[in-house]
Amino acid sequence: MSEIIKKSFKPKIRLQITDGYKFVNDVVQSNKLNTVCEEARCPNIYECWDRRTATIMILGDICTRACGFCSVKTGKPVYNDPMEPFRTAMAVKKMNLRHVVITSVDRDDLKNDYGASIWADTIRQIHNHVKKCTVEVLTPDFKGHEPSLEKVFNEGPEIFGHNVECIERISKQVRSQAVWHRSLDVLRLSAKKGLRTKTGMMVGLGESFDEVVKTMNQILDTGVTIFTIGQYLQPSKKHLPVVRYVKEQEFKDYKQIGLDLGFDVVESGPLVRSSYHADEQARIAMEIK
Ligand code: SF4
Repeated sequence: MSEIIKKSFKPKIRLQITDGYKFVNDVVQSNKLNTVCEEARCPNIYECWDRRTATIMILGDICTRACGFCSVKTGKPVYNDPMEPFRTAMAVKKMNLRHVVITSVDRDDLKNDYGASIWADTIRQIHNHVKKCTVEVLTPDFKGHEPSLEKVFNEGPEIFGHNVECIERISKQVRSQAVWHRSLDVLRLSAKKGLRTKTGMMVGLGESFDEVVKTMNQILDTGVTIFTIGQYLQPSKKHLPVVRYVKEQEFKDYKQIGLDLGFDVVESGPLVRSSYHADEQARIAMEIK
């Protein structure tokens, strides 16, 4: 740990409520939707909502897991709303989106398919009601249950995403109920199915530069073509502490290394989250394949 020193640099966060922000907020509220932008206290919310993009979070706002980095509420979910996929599609239509990112809480309580049928319905409703909108999903691991994953794959999301979140060595501290190699398996299955596959991770949690590069190689080996990497920020004192703030140059190095290794798209920077500028990443990825 000695070479890992907590730096004083912190990324600058924009804080401004604009007309675009108010518009997105109205659409989200009127359709009774949740967003990970709010629930995860994302630092980019003012910028993204001003650009009229948001990441809609389905299957309620209570997660069955309690990851050390994540501020989404944890507990016993009771949420079960079969109309949510339709309302999600209506919100996407109202926002006139060309590309939407959908994510969800973990629903390990839904033993039959961990919420995969609601996922599938959501993708289908958006494709049916908003023809020009491409759909990017950022899913849980569905405990690696292949029939559940197949339900999502079969709806043909334009991008399938699932985050590894961190390097393998510290994974148990960061995501205690996840299995790091299971996440790689999920990504491998998606790529094998022929879907454009994406993952993301955070730095600043105690990993070394070499461990990040090794992780990039492991990810690439699964068939992932879109990779994001950003700074971990502690949502509250109850969450894992930031071990270091990574410098801009290191993020530039990760980007160059990732592209040299063979990813089609690498988004790397202090405020990068998997859904940050996802529309632009998608456009580049779709032009390539
Ligand atoms: S980066 Fe993603 S989660 Fe954060 S505000 Fe933007 S769309 Fe929402």
